[in-house]
Amino acid sequence: MRRILFLCLAALLTACVPLPLEPDRPPPAARVETGPRLDTQTSAANFAQVVDTMEPVITSECRARAPRSNCDFMIVVDTRPGLPPNAFQTLDRSGRPVIGFTASLLADARNTDELAFILGHEAAHHIEGHIPRRIEQARTGALIAGALAALTGLDDASVERVAGIGAEIAARRFTPQLELEADRLGTVLAWQAGFDPERGARFFERIPDPGNAFLATHPPNAQRQAVVRNTLSRLRAGGDV
Ligand SMILES: [Zn+2]
Repeated sequence: MRRILFLCLAALLTACVPLPLEPDRPPPAARVETGPRLDTQTSAANFAQVVDTMEPVITSECRARAPRSNCDFMIVVDTRPGLPPNAFQTLDRSGRPVIGFTASLLADARNTDELAFILGHEAAHHIEGHIPRRIEQARTGALIAGALAALTGLDDASVERVAGIGAEIAARRFTPQLELEADRLGTVLAWQAGFDPERGARFFERIPDPGNAFLATHPPNAQRQAVVRNTLSRLRAGGDV
């Protein structure tokens, strides 16, 4: 449990920059059981095992795929009671990647494969540079929307408002693509560490399906599971992913 810090989110928030990625939050509804819930001791032991096994893999893949990135991951658990199951990736002020799990997500995970897949997915967001890419996408959206608004002769305050809306829409439209990319690399990372990503992705069966909702931040669950299956068959065939 060397790198696992149990802390209150208050401390985390003061240490971290604002979170530009949507948390990977399964809202509470439409639950499908994919195994019995585990007791607290087993959940904690599973998490410790997953972190110990996954951390060297995500660090070395980060160094290989993103040599200019900070690959010194900090993995934290938010133990405040009452938080929904949730995981996220962000950067602290020094640019160090932080991966957070709520305690309720640890309690909700049915096995180590689910925890490994989720940890791999969050690490993938950092390795693939999704925070800067999403910021860049928002900036472009703001520029385009602002320029179009200015052409219509709106006043400066209105142009600024439209640019803000353009930034939000551009970032949200981009997010499902990033989620699928993180699912793909998350599958690779979990597989390399010896876990079963297909079993891990059964986690999606317990979360509500956003379907093809307009501006949904997450892709349809079936699409996510298909990405995991396809990536896994390429890995099993010895292909490059
Ligand atoms: Zn994600």
